[in-house]
Amino acid sequence: MKMKTNLKNILAKLQAPLAKTELIGASTPSLVTGSENGNPRRDFMKKTLGGVALGGFMFSPIEDTLAESTKNVNRFGAPSDLKITDVRVAYIRDAPMNVPLIRIDTNQGLVGWGEVRDGGSPRYALFLKSRLLGENPCNVEKLFKKIKQFGFHGRQAGGVCGIEMALWDLAGKAYNVPAYQLLGGKYRDEVRIYADTDKSTDPQVFAKRMKERADKGITFLKMDFGVEMVKDIPGALVVPRNFDWGKAYSQTEHPFTAIQITDKGLDEMVKYVAAVREAVGTDIPLAADHFGHISVNSCIRLGRALEKYQLAWLEDMVPWKYTELWKQITTAIETPTLTGEDIYLKEEFIKLIDAYAVDMIHPDLASSGGLLETKKIGDYAEEKGIPMAMHFAGSPISFMANVHCAAATQNFIALEHHSIDVPWWEDLVKGIEKPILMKNGFVKVPNTPGLGVEVNEEEVKKHLIDGEKYFAPTTEWDKERSWDRLWS
Ligand SMILES: [Mg+2]
Repeated sequence: MKMKTNLKNILAKLQAPLAKTELIGASTPSLVTGSENGNPRRDFMKKTLGGVALGGFMFSPIEDTLAESTKNVNRFGAPSDLKITDVRVAYIRDAPMNVPLIRIDTNQGLVGWGEVRDGGSPRYALFLKSRLLGENPCNVEKLFKKIKQFGFHGRQAGGVCGIEMALWDLAGKAYNVPAYQLLGGKYRDEVRIYADTDKSTDPQVFAKRMKERADKGITFLKMDFGVEMVKDIPGALVVPRNFDWGKAYSQTEHPFTAIQITDKGLDEMVKYVAAVREAVGTDIPLAADHFGHISVNSCIRLGRALEKYQLAWLEDMVPWKYTELWKQITTAIETPTLTGEDIYLKEEFIKLIDAYAVDMIHPDLASSGGLLETKKIGDYAEEKGIPMAMHFAGSPISFMANVHCAAATQNFIALEHHSIDVPWWEDLVKGIEKPILMKNGFVKVPNTPGLGVEVNEEEVKKHLIDGEKYFAPTTEWDKERSWDRLWS
């Protein structure tokens, strides 16, 4: 009896200074998925309690008893001592895009998850490894500034943004708070999802697919339809003779194809929208994308023809970089316009926003600069009265990064979900309430530390690209070096 009382006193004394100095909230041992040097919890207990002789006065292992009695204490050591020790990738396929997942390891056993934008090369992330080793991942903005010169528009941004996601995951885990909290807190507990839908050349089939989405609870729809759908209808388009509809078309920017849409073509395209609107009704926003590579004048003609169906937005009618062309389209039609999924960093968004060249912006967080930069973009647009929808087509890792950013950004409208038809997509992660996409068409913002999901090794291994390994060593990237300073 006396021994038990003594133990209680000792534990109380040990616990008090720990609780004061070592943080907040419930412990999350499940977040620790590996340690180079054994169990990080025990390593930390030994480190923190190093001067105390623990072994001599217990019936059961003292560390287990202490672990139980101090379970409300963060066990991952002082976040200020956290250091990046490794960066690895696992490249998955058909999700429905190919996506390189990123894993950042640390000296305290904490693991951070991120991903290169869908379709981007894993090398975009691995190239950054030598710039990150030994750095404290909690200094997210500092590290972002260090690596952001290695990103560019489109997929080339994927490495920088994917690393940034993993840094927030680590910072959140180190301080035991969800990523949205580190961004300033949340405006909403659930994030609205909008669903993209594959097109069909048959308007009725297309309408049925859209209706199925709405019936499943999705509250915001997007349809793809473009001039390619009517190209075989005589008289629908004016096209230069012997036009190459293959690679040449897909790689030629909109103003430079010389394709024009006729009145007949407009009628045919309008049929698709009319069929979909009739099927889903008017109580659901309906956006549209992929109109084809046509001139600004044809974009305006098409926009005007569609006005009576009150679409939520017309997306990427011309490339994002043509601010003045966007301004022409936006001024000429009354349906909202939107672009931005390939823009890297806030500066190019600011140009579009300042010019009121589009009615809405549409960053893809895996291209736009990650969570914090995308929040900055959203905040800037908000001050100008412009809403932000979010483009997305990756794995649940990047998806949850989007969810945190969407929760923390006031002018957010809806986040894209591109994988509703991929049955194993949610299985790629664990540690989160399922289904992630709820029946009401929203996603709950998780309150667990970091991004709030862990990679599910078993499932990810089933979907690796042929020849790719599960987070294989990447020592060949340890010593990549150059004189990176951008000024002299
Ligand atoms: Mg798009």
